[in-house]
Amino acid sequence: MLYQDVFHLIMWHETTLSVRLRCITCDTPAKAMLKCIKQFSGYCGCDECTQKGNWEGRITYQQVHDLTLRNNVSFREQHQPEHHHENAVSPFSNLQIDMIKCFPADYMHQCCLGVMRKMLLPWSQGKSGHLLSPAQLREVNQRLRNLRSDIPHIFARKPCSLEELERCKATESRQFMLYTGKVVLRGILPETLYSHFMAFSVALCILVSPHLTQTHNVYAHELLTYFVEQGRHIYGKEFLVYNVHSLLHLTADATTYGSLDKCSAFAFESSMHKLKKMVRSGNHVLVQSTKRLQERSQIPVQTSEEKPIQLKHPNNVYIVSPTSCCEVLERTNSGKLLCRVFSHLTSYLYEPCDSMIYGACVCGPSKMEILDKTNLQGRSMILEDGHGRKVVFSLLHDLD
Ligand SMILES: [Zn+2]
Repeated sequence: MLYQDVFHLIMWHETTLSVRLRCITCDTPAKAMLKCIKQFSGYCGCDECTQKGNWEGRITYQQVHDLTLRNNVSFREQHQPEHHHENAVSPFSNLQIDMIKCFPADYMHQCCLGVMRKMLLPWSQGKSGHLLSPAQLREVNQRLRNLRSDIPHIFARKPCSLEELERCKATESRQFMLYTGKVVLRGILPETLYSHFMAFSVALCILVSPHLTQTHNVYAHELLTYFVEQGRHIYGKEFLVYNVHSLLHLTADATTYGSLDKCSAFAFESSMHKLKKMVRSGNHVLVQSTKRLQERSQIPVQTSEEKPIQLKHPNNVYIVSPTSCCEVLERTNSGKLLCRVFSHLTSYLYEPCDSMIYGACVCGPSKMEILDKTNLQGRSMILEDGHGRKVVFSLLHDLD
Protein backbone atom coordinates (compact mmCIF):
# COMPACT_ATOMS: atom_id res chain seq x y z
CA MET A 1 0.00 0.00 0.00
CA LEU A 2 1.22 3.51 -0.77
CA TYR A 3 1.43 5.54 2.39
CA GLN A 4 0.45 8.63 0.41
CA ASP A 5 -2.94 7.05 -0.28
CA VAL A 6 -3.78 6.77 3.42
CA PHE A 7 -6.42 9.19 4.63
CA HIS A 8 -6.22 10.57 8.16
CA LEU A 9 -9.29 11.69 10.04
CA ILE A 10 -9.11 14.96 11.96
CA MET A 11 -11.87 15.97 14.37
CA TRP A 12 -12.70 19.69 14.33
CA HIS A 13 -15.52 20.56 16.76
CA GLU A 14 -18.30 18.30 15.47
CA THR A 15 -16.91 17.89 11.99
CA THR A 16 -14.69 15.03 10.85
CA LEU A 17 -12.24 16.02 8.14
CA SER A 18 -10.59 13.47 5.88
CA VAL A 19 -7.04 14.55 5.08
CA ARG A 20 -4.50 12.97 2.75
CA LEU A 21 -0.98 13.88 3.82
CA ARG A 22 1.06 14.13 0.64
CA CYS A 23 4.37 15.32 2.06
CA ILE A 24 5.85 17.65 4.62
CA THR A 25 7.76 20.51 3.02
CA CYS A 26 10.06 22.65 5.12
CA ASP A 27 13.67 23.71 5.41
CA THR A 28 16.28 21.42 6.95
CA PRO A 29 16.38 22.84 10.51
CA ALA A 30 12.57 22.65 10.74
CA LYS A 31 12.59 19.12 9.34
CA ALA A 32 15.04 18.00 12.04
CA MET A 33 12.73 19.41 14.72
CA LEU A 34 9.64 17.76 13.24
CA LYS A 35 11.36 14.39 12.98
CA CYS A 36 13.21 14.69 16.34
CA ILE A 37 16.53 14.02 14.64
CA LYS A 38 19.95 15.66 14.79
CA GLN A 39 20.44 18.87 12.82
CA PHE A 40 22.19 18.82 9.41
CA SER A 41 25.26 20.26 11.13
CA GLY A 42 25.56 17.10 13.29
CA TYR A 43 27.70 14.06 12.42
CA CYS A 44 24.69 11.92 11.47
CA GLY A 45 22.55 14.77 10.19
CA CYS A 46 21.53 13.53 6.73
CA ASP A 47 17.91 12.46 6.91
CA GLU A 48 18.14 10.28 3.78
CA CYS A 49 21.37 8.28 4.27
CA THR A 50 23.45 6.99 7.16
CA GLN A 51 26.77 8.57 6.14
CA LYS A 52 28.70 10.05 9.06
CA GLY A 53 29.98 13.56 8.46
CA ASN A 54 33.64 14.69 8.39
CA TRP A 55 34.79 17.84 10.15
CA GLU A 56 36.41 20.23 7.64
CA GLY A 57 35.87 23.41 9.61
CA ARG A 58 32.20 22.45 9.40
CA ILE A 59 30.42 19.13 8.93
CA THR A 60 30.84 17.81 5.40
CA TYR A 61 29.81 14.59 3.67
CA GLN A 62 32.69 13.27 1.57
CA GLN A 63 31.22 9.94 0.43
CA VAL A 64 29.51 10.22 -2.94
CA HIS A 65 28.95 6.61 -4.07
CA ASP A 66 27.39 3.52 -2.47
CA LEU A 67 25.40 5.43 0.12
CA THR A 68 23.35 3.43 2.60
CA LEU A 69 19.88 4.90 2.36
CA ARG A 70 17.48 5.16 5.28
CA ASN A 71 14.01 3.72 4.90
CA ASN A 72 10.80 3.88 6.89
CA VAL A 73 11.63 0.74 8.91
CA SER A 74 15.25 1.63 9.69
CA PHE A 75 14.08 5.10 10.77
CA ARG A 76 11.29 3.90 13.02
CA GLU A 77 13.49 1.18 14.56
CA GLN A 78 16.30 3.71 15.00
CA HIS A 79 18.99 1.54 13.37
CA GLN A 80 21.38 4.49 13.71
CA PRO A 81 20.70 5.81 17.24
CA GLU A 82 23.10 8.79 16.80
CA HIS A 83 20.71 10.18 14.16
CA HIS A 84 17.86 10.49 16.67
CA HIS A 85 17.39 12.62 19.77
CA GLU A 86 17.36 10.48 22.89
CA ASN A 87 13.93 9.90 24.45
CA ALA A 88 12.21 11.90 21.74
CA VAL A 89 9.85 10.48 19.16
CA SER A 90 8.38 12.54 16.36
CA PRO A 91 4.60 13.00 16.62
CA PHE A 92 4.52 12.20 12.90
CA SER A 93 5.59 8.64 13.80
CA ASN A 94 2.04 8.10 15.05
CA LEU A 95 0.78 8.50 11.50
CA GLN A 96 0.83 5.82 8.88
CA ILE A 97 3.31 7.63 6.66
CA ASP A 98 6.74 6.87 5.23
CA MET A 99 9.04 8.80 7.58
CA ILE A 100 11.68 9.21 4.84
CA LYS A 101 9.76 9.69 1.60
CA CYS A 102 7.16 11.99 3.17
CA PHE A 103 9.92 14.46 4.06
CA PRO A 104 11.48 15.26 0.66
CA ALA A 105 14.29 17.75 0.08
CA ASP A 106 13.01 21.25 -0.65
CA TYR A 107 14.97 22.63 -3.62
CA MET A 108 13.90 26.19 -2.82
CA HIS A 109 16.00 26.18 0.35
CA GLN A 110 18.64 23.61 -0.56
CA CYS A 111 19.41 24.56 -4.16
CA CYS A 112 18.19 28.11 -4.84
CA LEU A 113 19.16 29.59 -1.50
CA GLY A 114 21.80 26.97 -0.63
CA VAL A 115 23.97 25.55 -3.41
CA MET A 116 23.51 28.40 -5.91
CA ARG A 117 24.59 31.02 -3.35
CA LYS A 118 27.47 28.79 -2.25
CA MET A 119 28.88 28.99 -5.78
CA LEU A 120 28.26 32.72 -6.20
CA LEU A 121 30.34 33.61 -3.18
CA PRO A 122 33.75 32.39 -4.48
CA TRP A 123 33.07 33.96 -7.88
CA SER A 124 32.38 37.43 -6.55
CA GLN A 125 34.39 37.63 -3.32
CA GLY A 126 36.26 34.35 -2.82
CA LYS A 127 39.86 33.19 -3.02
CA SER A 128 42.03 33.75 -6.07
CA GLY A 129 41.50 31.07 -8.66
CA HIS A 130 37.72 31.31 -8.49
CA LEU A 131 37.31 35.05 -8.12
CA LEU A 132 36.20 36.92 -11.23
CA SER A 133 38.17 40.09 -12.04
CA PRO A 134 36.40 43.46 -11.55
CA ALA A 135 36.09 43.75 -15.37
CA GLN A 136 34.53 40.27 -15.62
CA LEU A 137 32.09 41.04 -12.79
CA ARG A 138 31.10 44.28 -14.52
CA GLU A 139 30.50 42.37 -17.76
CA VAL A 140 28.32 39.72 -16.04
CA ASN A 141 26.34 42.43 -14.23
CA GLN A 142 25.92 44.42 -17.47
CA ARG A 143 24.59 41.29 -19.20
CA LEU A 144 22.15 40.72 -16.34
CA ARG A 145 20.94 44.33 -16.59
CA ASN A 146 20.52 43.97 -20.36
CA LEU A 147 18.20 40.99 -19.81
CA ARG A 148 15.78 42.90 -17.58
CA SER A 149 13.51 44.01 -20.44
CA ASP A 150 13.30 40.43 -21.81
CA ILE A 151 12.13 38.76 -18.60
CA PRO A 152 8.38 37.96 -18.72
CA HIS A 153 6.06 39.15 -15.97
CA ILE A 154 5.52 35.60 -14.73
CA PHE A 155 8.80 36.15 -12.93
CA ALA A 156 8.09 38.24 -9.86
CA ARG A 157 11.51 39.89 -10.06
CA LYS A 158 13.95 41.07 -12.72
CA PRO A 159 17.63 39.96 -12.80
CA CYS A 160 19.90 41.65 -10.28
CA SER A 161 23.70 41.84 -10.01
CA LEU A 162 25.83 38.88 -8.85
CA GLU A 163 26.54 40.64 -5.53
CA GLU A 164 22.80 41.16 -4.95
CA LEU A 165 22.08 37.54 -5.88
CA GLU A 166 23.95 36.39 -2.77
CA ARG A 167 21.19 37.85 -0.61
CA CYS A 168 18.26 37.83 -3.01
CA LYS A 169 14.93 35.99 -2.84
CA ALA A 170 14.76 32.33 -3.86
CA THR A 171 12.77 33.17 -6.97
CA GLU A 172 15.60 35.38 -8.34
CA SER A 173 18.13 32.71 -7.54
CA ARG A 174 15.97 30.12 -9.38
CA GLN A 175 15.78 32.38 -12.43
CA PHE A 176 19.60 32.56 -12.49
CA MET A 177 20.08 28.86 -11.77
CA LEU A 178 17.70 27.61 -14.48
CA TYR A 179 17.89 30.25 -17.21
CA THR A 180 19.90 33.48 -17.09
CA GLY A 181 23.09 32.06 -15.51
CA LYS A 182 23.77 29.96 -18.62
CA VAL A 183 23.76 33.10 -20.78
CA VAL A 184 25.51 35.68 -18.61
CA LEU A 185 28.35 33.43 -17.39
CA ARG A 186 29.19 31.92 -20.77
CA GLY A 187 32.61 33.00 -22.03
CA ILE A 188 33.36 34.86 -18.78
CA LEU A 189 33.42 32.26 -16.01
CA PRO A 190 36.51 30.00 -16.49
CA GLU A 191 35.62 26.89 -18.49
CA THR A 192 36.06 24.45 -15.56
CA LEU A 193 33.75 26.48 -13.33
CA TYR A 194 31.22 27.02 -16.11
CA SER A 195 31.04 23.27 -16.94
CA HIS A 196 30.61 22.53 -13.25
CA PHE A 197 27.80 25.11 -12.92
CA MET A 198 26.16 23.75 -16.08
CA ALA A 199 26.00 20.20 -14.66
CA PHE A 200 24.03 21.61 -11.71
CA SER A 201 21.87 23.93 -13.83
CA VAL A 202 20.92 21.29 -16.42
CA ALA A 203 20.13 18.68 -13.73
CA LEU A 204 17.80 21.18 -12.04
CA CYS A 205 16.18 22.05 -15.41
CA ILE A 206 15.39 18.36 -15.81
CA LEU A 207 14.06 17.90 -12.29
CA VAL A 208 11.72 20.94 -12.28
CA SER A 209 10.06 19.69 -15.47
CA PRO A 210 7.48 16.90 -14.91
CA HIS A 211 8.14 15.56 -18.44
CA LEU A 212 11.95 15.59 -18.21
CA THR A 213 11.88 14.15 -14.69
CA GLN A 214 10.15 11.12 -16.17
CA THR A 215 12.39 10.75 -19.21
CA HIS A 216 15.82 11.95 -17.98
CA ASN A 217 15.95 11.30 -14.21
CA VAL A 218 18.88 8.86 -14.49
CA TYR A 219 20.88 11.44 -16.42
CA ALA A 220 20.00 14.16 -13.88
CA HIS A 221 21.34 11.95 -11.08
CA GLU A 222 24.58 11.36 -13.02
CA LEU A 223 24.99 15.11 -13.48
CA LEU A 224 24.43 15.82 -9.79
CA THR A 225 26.84 13.04 -8.76
CA TYR A 226 29.45 14.56 -11.10
CA PHE A 227 28.71 18.02 -9.66
CA VAL A 228 29.27 16.88 -6.06
CA GLU A 229 32.46 14.93 -6.87
CA GLN A 230 33.88 17.67 -9.07
CA GLY A 231 32.93 20.31 -6.47
CA ARG A 232 35.42 18.75 -4.05
CA HIS A 233 38.23 19.03 -6.65
CA ILE A 234 37.36 22.60 -7.60
CA TYR A 235 36.34 24.25 -4.33
CA GLY A 236 37.92 21.86 -1.79
CA LYS A 237 36.59 19.34 0.74
CA GLU A 238 34.70 22.03 2.64
CA PHE A 239 32.39 22.47 -0.37
CA LEU A 240 30.59 19.19 0.42
CA VAL A 241 28.32 20.56 3.14
CA TYR A 242 24.86 19.13 3.71
CA ASN A 243 23.10 21.17 0.99
CA VAL A 244 25.60 20.00 -1.64
CA HIS A 245 25.50 16.40 -0.38
CA SER A 246 21.70 16.38 -0.45
CA LEU A 247 21.83 16.79 -4.25
CA LEU A 248 22.63 13.07 -4.30
CA HIS A 249 19.10 12.44 -2.94
CA LEU A 250 17.29 15.07 -4.99
CA THR A 251 16.51 12.95 -8.06
CA ALA A 252 14.81 10.27 -5.98
CA ASP A 253 12.55 12.89 -4.35
CA ALA A 254 11.70 14.52 -7.70
CA THR A 255 10.90 11.12 -9.20
CA THR A 256 8.68 10.15 -6.24
CA TYR A 257 6.60 13.34 -6.49
CA GLY A 258 6.72 13.96 -10.27
CA SER A 259 9.02 17.00 -10.18
CA LEU A 260 10.77 19.22 -7.65
CA ASP A 261 8.00 21.83 -7.75
CA LYS A 262 5.48 19.21 -6.58
CA CYS A 263 7.20 19.08 -3.19
CA SER A 264 8.88 22.48 -2.84
CA ALA A 265 8.16 25.49 -0.65
CA PHE A 266 7.72 27.78 -3.69
CA ALA A 267 3.95 27.12 -3.67
CA PHE A 268 3.78 28.30 -0.03
CA GLU A 269 5.94 31.35 -0.73
CA SER A 270 3.67 32.26 -3.62
CA SER A 271 0.52 31.83 -1.48
CA MET A 272 2.10 33.85 1.31
CA HIS A 273 2.73 36.68 -1.15
CA LYS A 274 -0.94 36.57 -2.26
CA LEU A 275 -2.17 36.47 1.35
CA LYS A 276 -0.02 39.49 2.28
CA LYS A 277 -1.56 41.47 -0.59
CA MET A 278 -5.04 40.77 0.81
CA VAL A 279 -4.26 42.39 4.14
CA ARG A 280 -4.99 46.14 4.32
CA SER A 281 -3.98 46.91 7.92
CA GLY A 282 -2.23 45.36 10.90
CA ASN A 283 -5.48 44.64 12.76
CA HIS A 284 -7.12 41.19 12.69
CA VAL A 285 -4.85 39.97 9.92
CA LEU A 286 -6.25 36.43 10.00
CA VAL A 287 -9.87 37.62 9.80
CA GLN A 288 -9.05 39.92 6.88
CA SER A 289 -7.35 37.25 4.84
CA THR A 290 -10.06 34.66 5.62
CA LYS A 291 -12.78 37.08 4.42
CA ARG A 292 -10.89 37.84 1.19
CA LEU A 293 -10.41 34.11 0.56
CA GLN A 294 -14.13 33.50 1.15
CA GLU A 295 -15.01 36.27 -1.32
CA ARG A 296 -12.66 34.81 -3.91
CA SER A 297 -14.14 31.33 -3.50
CA GLN A 298 -17.44 32.78 -4.84
CA ILE A 299 -15.73 33.78 -8.11
CA PRO A 300 -15.31 31.03 -10.75
CA VAL A 301 -11.66 29.99 -10.97
CA GLN A 302 -9.94 30.50 -14.31
CA THR A 303 -8.33 27.26 -15.45
CA SER A 304 -4.89 27.18 -17.04
CA GLU A 305 -6.49 26.46 -20.45
CA GLU A 306 -8.41 29.73 -20.17
CA LYS A 307 -5.38 31.88 -19.53
CA PRO A 308 -5.33 34.72 -22.08
CA ILE A 309 -2.76 34.70 -24.85
CA GLN A 310 -0.24 37.48 -24.26
CA LEU A 311 0.40 39.93 -27.11
CA LYS A 312 3.10 42.20 -25.67
CA HIS A 313 6.85 41.81 -25.35
CA PRO A 314 8.34 40.13 -23.32
CA ASN A 315 5.32 38.03 -22.33
CA ASN A 316 4.26 36.92 -25.80
CA VAL A 317 6.79 34.15 -26.53
CA TYR A 318 5.48 30.62 -26.94
CA ILE A 319 6.88 27.27 -28.00
CA VAL A 320 5.21 25.96 -31.16
CA SER A 321 7.14 22.70 -31.66
CA PRO A 322 10.50 21.27 -30.52
CA THR A 323 12.16 23.20 -33.35
CA SER A 324 10.08 26.39 -33.53
CA CYS A 325 8.80 29.20 -31.35
CA CYS A 326 6.92 32.43 -31.95
CA GLU A 327 6.14 35.90 -30.66
CA VAL A 328 2.40 36.59 -30.77
CA LEU A 329 1.82 40.11 -32.12
CA GLU A 330 -1.91 40.55 -32.84
CA ARG A 331 -5.25 38.84 -32.73
CA THR A 332 -6.90 38.84 -36.19
CA ASN A 333 -10.59 39.54 -36.82
CA SER A 334 -11.19 35.80 -37.24
CA GLY A 335 -9.75 35.09 -33.79
CA LYS A 336 -6.45 33.71 -35.13
CA LEU A 337 -3.02 34.99 -34.08
CA LEU A 338 -0.54 36.96 -36.15
CA CYS A 339 2.87 35.68 -35.06
CA ARG A 340 6.55 36.14 -35.79
CA VAL A 341 7.66 32.53 -36.11
CA PHE A 342 11.24 31.31 -35.65
CA SER A 343 11.02 27.98 -37.42
CA HIS A 344 14.63 26.77 -37.40
CA LEU A 345 15.76 26.58 -33.79
CA THR A 346 19.23 25.17 -33.29
CA SER A 347 21.11 24.01 -30.20
CA TYR A 348 22.51 26.75 -27.97
CA LEU A 349 24.95 24.51 -26.07
CA TYR A 350 26.31 20.99 -26.46
CA GLU A 351 27.81 20.48 -22.98
CA PRO A 352 26.93 18.63 -20.82
CA CYS A 353 24.24 17.63 -23.37
CA ASP A 354 22.41 19.06 -26.37
CA SER A 355 20.52 22.05 -24.94
CA MET A 356 17.49 21.30 -27.15
CA ILE A 357 16.69 18.55 -24.63
CA TYR A 358 15.89 21.17 -21.98
CA GLY A 359 14.57 23.77 -24.42
CA ALA A 360 17.43 26.26 -24.81
CA CYS A 361 17.81 27.06 -28.52
CA VAL A 362 19.16 29.76 -30.81
CA CYS A 363 16.51 31.49 -32.94
CA GLY A 364 17.18 31.55 -36.69
CA PRO A 365 15.45 33.78 -39.25
CA SER A 366 11.79 34.58 -38.68
CA LYS A 367 8.69 35.03 -40.84
CA MET A 368 5.15 36.20 -40.17
CA GLU A 369 2.48 33.51 -39.97
CA ILE A 370 -1.11 33.16 -38.84
CA LEU A 371 -1.44 30.53 -36.14
CA ASP A 372 -4.28 29.12 -34.09
CA LYS A 373 -3.99 29.31 -30.30
CA THR A 374 -3.97 25.50 -30.22
CA ASN A 375 -0.54 25.68 -31.93
CA LEU A 376 0.98 27.29 -28.82
CA GLN A 377 2.53 24.57 -26.67
CA GLY A 378 3.94 26.43 -23.68
CA ARG A 379 5.45 29.67 -22.39
CA SER A 380 9.03 30.63 -23.10
CA MET A 381 11.26 33.71 -23.21
CA ILE A 382 13.85 35.04 -25.65
CA LEU A 383 17.10 36.42 -24.21
CA GLU A 384 19.96 38.18 -26.06
CA ASP A 385 23.14 36.23 -25.26
CA GLY A 386 25.63 39.14 -25.32
CA HIS A 387 26.83 38.20 -28.84
CA GLY A 388 23.74 39.39 -30.69
CA ARG A 389 22.07 35.99 -30.73
CA LYS A 390 18.49 35.45 -29.60
CA VAL A 391 18.20 32.41 -27.35
CA VAL A 392 14.78 30.99 -26.56
CA PHE A 393 14.29 29.21 -23.22
CA SER A 394 11.28 26.98 -22.53
CA LEU A 395 9.96 27.82 -19.08
CA LEU A 396 10.28 24.51 -17.31
CA HIS A 397 9.38 25.27 -13.70
CA ASP A 398 5.86 25.42 -12.30
CA LEU A 399 4.39 28.74 -13.49
CA ASP A 400 1.34 28.82 -11.21
ZN1 LIG B 1 22.62 11.62 2.61
